[in-house]
Amino acid sequence: MPILQLNNIETYYGAIQALKGISMDVGKGEIVTLIGSNGAGKSTTLKSISGLAKVKNGSIIYKDKDITNRPPHETTLLGLAHVPEGRRIFAQLTVKENLQMGAYSVKGKDIIQERMETVFSYFPRLKERLNQKGGTMSGGEQQMLAIGRALMMQPEVLMLDEPSMGLAPIIVEQIFEIILQLNSMGITILLIEQNAYQALSIAHRGYVIQNGAIVLSGTGSELIENEQIKEAYLA
Ligand code: ATP
Repeated sequence: MPILQLNNIETYYGAIQALKGISMDVGKGEIVTLIGSNGAGKSTTLKSISGLAKVKNGSIIYKDKDITNRPPHETTLLGLAHVPEGRRIFAQLTVKENLQMGAYSVKGKDIIQERMETVFSYFPRLKERLNQKGGTMSGGEQQMLAIGRALMMQPEVLMLDEPSMGLAPIIVEQIFEIILQLNSMGITILLIEQNAYQALSIAHRGYVIQNGAIVLSGTGSELIENEQIKEAYLA
């Protein structure tokens, strides 16, 4: 029984059909990656799940519930966290305030403090920078903050849109290390990556999306070995 299931999702931007019937499932505790070239529809798939893009046809089932077109604040409360591309942290707010914003719906200072400590256990750097403005942090630190903020809601499923974008290789390593750590703590991961090789090496399974449709799926290692994938995405 998957924790998250997409059934034939079709999503439009005005007259443009971005998703042409996407079906996929994500098992509880899995790392699943979506790979594909620019404009294939990866981000739109995540946006359709979290409620940022309106689904025209098809359904999204999360833990046996139909959540199709639920607004973002509701999907967040249900346990789905979406860290969008380009890490939209609040530049003018401090690290601490950014994290507090992540748990805005949570009542109780103690609980918020406790969750913050959990975030610091993954990202000690954030604790050192508690009062620094988000916008003055490095790219990697901002990515850590964006993930940390999402973790403040204790999500069951963490959806990451190109977390390695624009980061130095050593920082990318750290981010992937943390993704693995979060997964080992039981968080299900849905990961979009431009770096297909790295994503497939940590993923249990992957889907390849092309022009708004899934064209191939398999285990991470099957896809890494696949000749078409090698040619198109791992070159
Ligand atoms: P990338 O890696 O470049 O972000 P992607 O696979 O995530 O690519 P999407 O961002 O999901 O692709 O875009 C899918 C299609 O929808 C593209 O043709 C894109 O131009 C279009 N699209 C995305 N967002 C919008 C928007 N807000 N308005 C109109 N068209 C959009």
